[in-house]
Amino acid sequence: MEASRNSPCRFVVDTMLGRLAKWLRLLGFDTLYQQHYAATTLHSFINDGRCLVTRSRKRLEEFSEAVCLNSESVGHQLGELQDKGLFSPPPEPFSRCIRCNMVLVETDPLAAKGEVPDYVIHTTATKMRQCPSCNRYYWPGTHRARMEAQLHHWGIKFTPP
Ligand SMILES: [Zn+2]
Repeated sequence: MEASRNSPCRFVVDTMLGRLAKWLRLLGFDTLYQQHYAATTLHSFINDGRCLVTRSRKRLEEFSEAVCLNSESVGHQLGELQDKGLFSPPPEPFSRCIRCNMVLVETDPLAAKGEVPDYVIHTTATKMRQCPSCNRYYWPGTHRARMEAQLHHWGIKFTPP
């Protein structure tokens, strides 16, 4: 990694690391993931400045720039990336769709009426966000609080929004 990087790392995550991809997106990192990538596709992502994350030694032989994780647990995998300095600077957590990797856009909570529980509309005021791709709604609440607690438990540093 170049020392002069001043925007958050962008990742492409290898096969079998779907859970890691979800947590990276939740932390706000631009993270590409699908079941299978052709080698040529991975090369073009790397040339585009993405960091390839893998658990495969074989992959590491083919892609010397790849970051190879040792741990099987997602919490430890995040810790490994953090220890390598890849979480600095941090992106805005909870700013991306964990399914599509799209940046969420703020939306009028009233527009979400019928799509989310009623109490959400009345308690979160203007904090409602939506994925422009899958239209899923995101808002601060107990679900997010649980995820924040999990990150703290794993020792992952992030700036609560
Ligand atoms: Zn989405």
